[in-house]
Amino acid sequence: MLEGSCLCGDISFKVNARPEGVSVCHCRQCRRQSGHLWASAYVARSDLSISGTVKWYEASETAKRGFCPRCGSSLFWAAHAEDTMSFALGALEEPTGLRLEKHIFVADKGDYYDIADGVPQKD
Ligand SMILES: [Zn+2]
Repeated sequence: MLEGSCLCGDISFKVNARPEGVSVCHCRQCRRQSGHLWASAYVARSDLSISGTVKWYEASETAKRGFCPRCGSSLFWAAHAEDTMSFALGALEEPTGLRLEKHIFVADKGDYYDIADGVPQKD
């Protein structure tokens, strides 16, 4: 079982299933909210137990983003139409046993870096 927490520790979470979609997102929203990139994976919402009070930001009509109101850590992402929840890989305790599977929204990536790790890329 994976566990994670925000920077200050007010919010922690447990992942009770094998995560899917281990990826790095290069879209504008993820880059703005995280300060660079947002790496995440997802499980069914029922397989993610969260402790602490998450602040939710309605980032668009289709999805919300959860963060710690005290330290600002970007922790969760959830589409309203899906029954899954994404969580930040950077918040996990190690070893995670996970490996990046893909880069997504690379067409929106910043102009100040290259992606050169050999992991598959999707526009
Ligand atoms: Zn915090």
